[in-house]
Amino acid sequence: MQVSQKSKETFDACRFCWMCHHICPIGNATGHERNTARARALSLSLVERGGLALDEEVSSNLYECALCSGCAHDCITGWDPTKFTKEARLAAALEGVLPPYINTLLDNLADHGTPYGQVALDGALAEAIAALPKEADVLLFLGADARALYPAGALNAMRLLTAAGISFTVLENEPDDAYASNFLIGAAEETRAAMKRANDAFAPFKTIVCYDGTDAAAFLREGKEWGVVTANVVTFPTYIASLIKQGKLSPKKGKTVYTIQDCAYIARELDDDQSIRTVVDALGERREMLVSGKATMLGGQALMATYMADVIAKVGARRMHEAVIAGAETVVTESVGEYLALSAAAPAGVKVVTLEEAVLSCL
Ligand code: SF4
Ligand code: SF4
Repeated sequence: MQVSQKSKETFDACRFCWMCHHICPIGNATGHERNTARARALSLSLVERGGLALDEEVSSNLYECALCSGCAHDCITGWDPTKFTKEARLAAALEGVLPPYINTLLDNLADHGTPYGQVALDGALAEAIAALPKEADVLLFLGADARALYPAGALNAMRLLTAAGISFTVLENEPDDAYASNFLIGAAEETRAAMKRANDAFAPFKTIVCYDGTDAAAFLREGKEWGVVTANVVTFPTYIASLIKQGKLSPKKGKTVYTIQDCAYIARELDDDQSIRTVVDALGERREMLVSGKATMLGGQALMATYMADVIAKVGARRMHEAVIAGAETVVTESVGEYLALSAAAPAGVKVVTLEEAVLSCL
């Protein structure tokens, strides 16, 4: 199995350790030992020692990890199981042992530029995009999840930038955001090439506002680390927080109590759990869940929902239960996948809103 020495050391360190098993949103949802970082490490260490074949069964387990870094964040000895999981996914791809549903997502990416296949753009969204100027300093990058699964969120994000008086545009045909291929096959040539194509498409713009936290994390973490993303990419919460600070958006602070569902990829990978709080604090009162900020628990994942919908529904329901225990009235999200899973699980009396929806309601 082609993985780095660091990955081998990590799965050897993790294979007999159970210290982070309680932190895994997937393991908590399934209750299965196989979903802990420890179990995944143990099977990979066996593969490395020749006691187990890297086959479809082992590789299917690799895709039951959301790469949310909850385990890595909790690890007091500093190991990061997401690294060996991503490298092992690429190794499984190279050895041709990916599960069929992962091959389908990859085929969709190759054929249509999105993991969701050929999805016609929502009519109202297409119309709104067509009405925008073609040239502007700011590009709002919507990403595949919003375009395919939640166009209403994309429209609200556009309404919010318009309300702030920002001259911006949205590409009618967005390049593949590389998030999906980064998630599915890690540092493969295809992922780097997709990021490069996106970076080339960003060249005419001074600022790229990335609507979905998952895409922003891929561009700003791996894209920058590999030197292929040179564009000025900012997350949507960071940009909205800056518009409030500059006085371009002046929401009226009300009595609504907001509870934040931090996007794990923004909070942990990009080390930013403050931008969303800057925005929410301008809107109303904030009531935190027990685990929040950089310690957040995943609340949903759009890509995984295509092949393990029942588990992701449970992930959303568990997180929503935690929000209810914390006394949440309005839960604010910063990723499409979490919005979809949490809103599907919201009980009567608890609202789930996206960040832009929350701000728009206070203008
Ligand atoms: S990441 Fe740390 S806490 Fe989790 S299994 Fe590995 S060594 Fe243990
Ligand atoms: S990265 Fe997240 S989903 Fe994967 S093992 Fe760690 S805590 Fe679980």
